[in-house]
Amino acid sequence: MAPVVAPGPTPGAAPADATRLFDGTSLSAWVKVAGGATSSTPMRSPTGDLVPADWPIKDGTLEVGRGSIMTRESFGDVQLHLEFAEPAPARGTGQERGNSGIKFMGLYEIQVLDSFQAPTYADGAVGAIYGEYPPLVNAARPPGEWQTYDIVFEAPVFRDGALISPAFATVFLNGVVVQLRRPIMGATSPTTTPHAYAPTPAEMPLLLQDHSSPVRFRNIWIRRLSGLDRPGAK
Ligand code: MG
Repeated sequence: MAPVVAPGPTPGAAPADATRLFDGTSLSAWVKVAGGATSSTPMRSPTGDLVPADWPIKDGTLEVGRGSIMTRESFGDVQLHLEFAEPAPARGTGQERGNSGIKFMGLYEIQVLDSFQAPTYADGAVGAIYGEYPPLVNAARPPGEWQTYDIVFEAPVFRDGALISPAFATVFLNGVVVQLRRPIMGATSPTTTPHAYAPTPAEMPLLLQDHSSPVRFRNIWIRRLSGLDRPGAK
């Protein structure tokens, strides 16, 4: 018999076994990242402590600002739910228009961008695995409207320093599949060309990118999948 997981009480709500990363009130699950939009190095205080994240919370939503943030906890294979809204009225064009990002393990970015009737390069649009795969379709909502991401991320596997299995991403944007178990080519950040893998721990923090746009987030939760949904897969 499959283990029971009580689903959330309403569509999009966290199931019973999820870790709430942002519930509208607290950023306690998050710390600040040192450096710019391509960094995934945690900021340390002069005494070596992690620095609590300080993005502004307004009316239960989180607004990007003051540098990228990453989770205190590390994750490998996960299911992530997250909601975001692009700035309205829209500002800027291309990659300057509502840019943020979700970086699994701090390294593999699913792009957040305002791509509603707003062109940019194909693998830089919302729903892209940044710099690797354009979304299958453009399922973007207009700026100001809440949008949903539901993502299954499978961590890469290394053995004796060699890559055994790449990372995979399956992505639904606003309920529409935009990436179907794509094998990720390597770290999308910091930007290397071509993207490549370097051995990492099995679990690393999830990162939300500050790319100088006041994108808003709400209702962020994550479920670990290792040993549950894919027993014996690795
Ligand atoms: Mg980005």
